[in-house]
Amino acid sequence: METYLFESLDDTFKTEEDCVRFLTKRRWAGGFCCPNCDYHLFYIIKTRNLLECKECRTQISLTAGTVMHKSKLSLMLWFKAIRALIQDGQTYSIAAFASLLGVNYRTAKLMLEKLQLALCGQKSQTKSSIQQK
Ligand SMILES: [Zn+2]
Repeated sequence: METYLFESLDDTFKTEEDCVRFLTKRRWAGGFCCPNCDYHLFYIIKTRNLLECKECRTQISLTAGTVMHKSKLSLMLWFKAIRALIQDGQTYSIAAFASLLGVNYRTAKLMLEKLQLALCGQKSQTKSSIQQK
């Protein structure tokens, strides 16, 4: 995961669509371009975080290659979690992380593990500790 791109995450992410727009921009800085036919217009399939080319109907996952891929959790939640870990630079116990995000312990543990794997080695100061037994 390219963590530097998330350093500018702020409170402007109020809806899933804001997150989708961010991810789209991140991936196609110069505007969408279909990998199959080079067409530039697309539909957003919000429920699955997919873009569909208006020309050839190729579907492209917005979250492929990120910790959010195939997750049932909302992008908003992931963005909030990433922001907490990267920007605040704090260390969280699983319980504290769960309460911050408003999710249960199991979900928080899973998210922390995935995010730590993704962030591992990218920035030494963002190491947040998972309390292992
Ligand atoms: Zn296409």
